Amino acid sequence: MSASASWIARDAAAVWHPFTQHADWTGDDPTVVARAEGPWLWDVDGRRYLDGVSSLWTTTLGHGHPGVNAAIADQLAKLDHATFLGASHTPGIELSETLIALAPKGDDPDLTKVFYAGDGSSAVEAALKIAYQYSTQTGHPRPKFVRLNHAYHGDTLGAVAVGGHDLFHQAYKPLLLETVGIESPGDRALGADRLTTAISHLRSVMHEHGDQVCAIIVEPMIQGAAGMLDYDAAFLREARTLAYTYGALLIFDEVATGIGRTGRMWAAEHAGVVPDLLTCGKGVTGGYLPLSAVLAAEHVYEAFLTRPGDSSPRTFFHGHTYTANPLCCAAALANLRVMGEQDVVARADRLGERLGKLLEPVAAKDAVTEVRRLGTMIGVEVAPDGHRTGFRVCRAARDRGVWLRPLGDTVVVMPPLTLGDDEADLLVEALDAAIDEVLG
Ligand code: PMP
Repeated sequence: MSASASWIARDAAAVWHPFTQHADWTGDDPTVVARAEGPWLWDVDGRRYLDGVSSLWTTTLGHGHPGVNAAIADQLAKLDHATFLGASHTPGIELSETLIALAPKGDDPDLTKVFYAGDGSSAVEAALKIAYQYSTQTGHPRPKFVRLNHAYHGDTLGAVAVGGHDLFHQAYKPLLLETVGIESPGDRALGADRLTTAISHLRSVMHEHGDQVCAIIVEPMIQGAAGMLDYDAAFLREARTLAYTYGALLIFDEVATGIGRTGRMWAAEHAGVVPDLLTCGKGVTGGYLPLSAVLAAEHVYEAFLTRPGDSSPRTFFHGHTYTANPLCCAAALANLRVMGEQDVVARADRLGERLGKLLEPVAAKDAVTEVRRLGTMIGVEVAPDGHRTGFRVCRAARDRGVWLRPLGDTVVVMPPLTLGDDEADLLVEALDAAIDEVLG
């Protein structure tokens, strides 16, 4: 019995995996990862794979970066954990200063305060609660959220409520907050007029529900888990204007798009729009340890300061045990420092261009419906030929040494931002051959 077979048998006996149909699990021949370095993964049998999706869109610098590893080890020798509830610590303060310095800037008020959470979903959850409480503390309670169709913002119930991905979210509908879904400007099913359709839908929804809406939440420029649905920046500028007009907050969920992934530090920069709340996660620590954050505009933060005559405190009663864990903050600081020193955001922009060029012949294949890309967020949508086509293409790529993961029939390509040219070539060659094998 191979090492993989024996570990998979033990896994199947004891583990319940996320987003996984366990009736298929062992038959799908899962990969058991043993170690990783740079953009490479090795399984327990010693087979090597190029990590084409940054281990769930997170390892910005690749695995095992010596600078990040050393920063975590140094921090561990000083302070492993300290609560952020009623106390503070130096890596948490320094990381907040760094994130504020990096935050998108423009004509809108700056983002000046950082609230921490543990993962993308819990950052979204915090942002939703902040937005609702802000409405109660600045005017009147506004219980509704406006969200995009096909959206994905995480798996906790608030995040599910502002999601619009039927496969993932339908089952929980009876449990959810009140939201109004609008047409997505990235939805290809709406045809060439999708931008105009989405803008006019947003306008009419805000006209009808405006004074009940505490926030509009969107993934800026591209809806990732929806299948990499990129869209025009004009939609975000309109959302910014409408949020101002109706007194709602604008939330950008940059959990996937942030930290250089789209070839800018933030996707918001493509549009020149600054939201009132911005969530980030995934790439913040470069995948080393779990940490996420909500960046907030000063006027939002100020609405949470108790004033003379208040009958109850305006405190944001929210915060988890591991909020701003010092090891996670140290990992994030090191990741962001290395990114700055090595100009990784500009490298990501160039890598995206290169992958886009390499994928042109793939996009021309009959078996490929569309290739969508913003920076290094790439979706290669294949024409379905029956059952689990995207999955089968990813398995065929794995046989060629490249690890990929599909979203339905869209194969995601989101490698580490520091991927080398030869590795980019290998990735696209393997995907090209995998598509031919499955659909040729
Ligand atoms: N928001 C977006 C846009 C995401 O892509 C994701 C995760 N893919 C999340 C939120 C949830 O993040 P997490 O899985 O870390 O909870």
